[in-house]
Amino acid sequence: MKVVVIGAGVIGSAIAANLSERGADVTVLSREHPGAATSLCSFAWYNALQKYPVEYIDMNVNGMRCHAQYAARFVSAPWYHKGGNIEWTVGGEHADDQIKVMKDMQAFGYKGRLITAKEVLALEPDIAPAALKDAQIVYYPDEGWIDVVLLVARLLADARSFGAKIVTGAEVTGFDAVGDRISAVRLADGSKIEADVVVNAAGPAADDIAAYVGHSVPMTQEPGTQVYTGPVAITIDRVIHAPGISMRPDGGGRVCLHNHGIDREIKKGTGIDDQIVKTASGYSFDVKAAGPMLERAAAVYPGLANPVVETARIALRPIPKDRWPIIGFGSSTSNLYTTVMHSGVSQCLWVGQIVGQEISSGKEVDYLKSFRLSRFAGRVVETVKVVHR
Ligand SMILES: Cc1cc2nc3c(=O)[nH]c(=O)nc-3n(C[C@H](O)[C@H](O)[C@H](O)COP(=O)(O)OP(=O)(O)OC[C@H]3O[C@@H](n4cnc5c(N)ncnc54)[C@H](O)[C@@H]3O)c2cc1C
Repeated sequence: MKVVVIGAGVIGSAIAANLSERGADVTVLSREHPGAATSLCSFAWYNALQKYPVEYIDMNVNGMRCHAQYAARFVSAPWYHKGGNIEWTVGGEHADDQIKVMKDMQAFGYKGRLITAKEVLALEPDIAPAALKDAQIVYYPDEGWIDVVLLVARLLADARSFGAKIVTGAEVTGFDAVGDRISAVRLADGSKIEADVVVNAAGPAADDIAAYVGHSVPMTQEPGTQVYTGPVAITIDRVIHAPGISMRPDGGGRVCLHNHGIDREIKKGTGIDDQIVKTASGYSFDVKAAGPMLERAAAVYPGLANPVVETARIALRPIPKDRWPIIGFGSSTSNLYTTVMHSGVSQCLWVGQIVGQEISSGKEVDYLKSFRLSRFAGRVVETVKVVHR
């Protein structure tokens, strides 16, 4: 079976690795370098928190399990970072929400517990004790983060070892179709690649790919920004969610900073949005806009005061309209398989397994029934694209 996977982010790479191992003749096409689109700008925290309802929580829990199992296959798995997630609130309505989420997750068998400031300081000695004053702190020990580019590299190496071809700088510009099937994928350089099955793993560009055969993927593309410090002499060893700022290590002493509040400002098209500049290849985010994030980070880790900011990245999050993954065949083009989701880092390896099974066997996997494109059928679903100035 000739399978063309469009996209070499975490999702396309995981699917390509699995399908190749199952014996498919796989070609991966990617406009950007592998892992260089949304996946490169991910907070990359693997978790299943608040991913209601239960089917979606289960999808993410399986994703976490698969990360542990996949890493265990190798002598060294430099992409896989355990250590858990520490998050805290200081009063206010979020404190009640925090307990509710913890109890909901515990009821699902997910590990999470209240811990003391003293326990936090044993895990993260460089946090300022004052930042934890009056804090209600929850620790989720089975969570962690993924160095996405290294994971993508490993997955594509796996795929190659089973015969897959990885073609970068390859922009898909259309399809040849025979009846209700795609017969070949057309590239910008004029070449064509024959396909029995085409997997649309183009992340935020999935709707554009579907449009080549007259379909629409009901999704939005919401911008997300992150700031990356240069090397700083502090120890931060896990995912940290403090009020107003999220942090994790990013390798080589760097720290990755994220804040949903800033992402929301961008969507409003005001304030910080002025720092977003459209470039030929996407968007850029002026690091001057990161001032509030850096201040909040330094209040938690004093060693982070006045860091060198190495870069800021902005990417579009691929988000299905109802926020659940869209996975499967199901458009009127019978051999086009769609895979669009947020939290793709958490879920990618499990998605790779079930998609690999479904495509190679030709039989629908029951587990995916809640995630089909067909759930939107008969509903008026506008596809909204975020417009940036
Ligand atoms: C700021 C931010 C924080 C996030 N935090 C988390 C988190 O903590 N945990 C989590 O699990 N998820 C998180 N996510 C979401 C997660 O990063 C995404 O779900 C995931 O990266 C999507 O991967 P993908 O492979 O679908 O898409 P992408 O990584 O965007 O890959 C798409 C691929 O398609 C290719 N492509 C596109 N168009 C074409 C074309 N025409 N021709 C050829 N190739 C094409 C691109 O080159 C690329 O290779 C976050 C996202 C953002 C932006």
